[in-house]
Amino acid sequence: MPRIVHHLAAVRRIFAVVERPLHNRLDRNTLERKLDREGRERTTLSLYQYAHIRNPQFFRDHLFSVWQPLGVLGRIYVSAEGINAQLSLPTAHMDAFQQSLDDVDWLRGIRLNIAIEGDDKSFLKLIIKVRNKIVADGLDDSSFDVTDCGQHVSAAEFNALAQAPDTVVVDMRNHYESEVGHFKGAILPAAETFREEIREVEDLLKDQRDRNIVLYCTGGIRCEKASAYLKHKGFPNVHQLEGGIIEYVRQVKEQGLDNRFRGVNFVFDERLAERVSEDVVSECHHCGAPNDTVTNCANAACNVLMVQCPKCANTMNGTCSTDCADFMALPADQQKAKRSGTRPTRRTLRAPNTARKADL
Ligand SMILES: [Zn+2]
Ligand SMILES: [Zn+2]
Repeated sequence: MPRIVHHLAAVRRIFAVVERPLHNRLDRNTLERKLDREGRERTTLSLYQYAHIRNPQFFRDHLFSVWQPLGVLGRIYVSAEGINAQLSLPTAHMDAFQQSLDDVDWLRGIRLNIAIEGDDKSFLKLIIKVRNKIVADGLDDSSFDVTDCGQHVSAAEFNALAQAPDTVVVDMRNHYESEVGHFKGAILPAAETFREEIREVEDLLKDQRDRNIVLYCTGGIRCEKASAYLKHKGFPNVHQLEGGIIEYVRQVKEQGLDNRFRGVNFVFDERLAERVSEDVVSECHHCGAPNDTVTNCANAACNVLMVQCPKCANTMNGTCSTDCADFMALPADQQKAKRSGTRPTRRTLRAPNTARKADL
């Protein structure tokens, strides 16, 4: 008899999971109000892991059913090659969240990149998507061993290596990320996507094959692939900053190390950037004044990414151009009529033509 009861409970549990909707259906305003009402302290973090997942859709549904009740919000990609997650959760649920990771063999003991500046509104919903790849890299994975990656270095090791004469430090992020913050003396490629970036870096380094190459990115995931690819292409001394800028900053603070990162760290959530040092390494795209405020054009149909100082934000009403400012000045119904069918054509307001080298 107890056995049957046990089975019934299990069946009920399964149905409870199935009946609960596995997607969010609330609009943005409702979600913001919900977060305000919640008023709980939240922790923002990211994690990633390359692994072989046989049924990504099943794994995705499992994560949603476990994380939704914990109040997890964020953007998570699952694919046959692993998981890449940026999320926030009520700090009080950290233990339960950790347990949910420990319940999965290949996620047990995984390093969590905790955000530098906590923001209670980093994410508004829980979105878990099944994708072909967890990072779009345009690489043919079957042509090389993705697990044969570069040597991982800690913040202290990175600092020592970065100051050695025979080292090249390379920013593996897109130009709009490295523009507002980067390591001293790093090569800053001009690419706008990771896909382009890998090719550009391979080309930039072709005459420096034997130097110590140190790659870095936001949380480390892009360097896993890029370092394995460069090794496959015959670069013998490839290193990567473990846990990326996020983990570097944490270790620098914890161990009282010299901070070699200048400016703000671009992040992929509502905040767009978190400050690491007081240096301002970029300028307003409109007036050229020193500034590193990353923002999207206030015209949602444009949404172009830009650096805009408070003065220009004020005169241009938070938009990128007179066209967008004029559009925003129209009555709402006219905006709506005009907006239908239009799509933004570019991602950033200003893009460099070539790679550059950051100041020492
Ligand atoms: Zn300005
Ligand atoms: Zn615009």
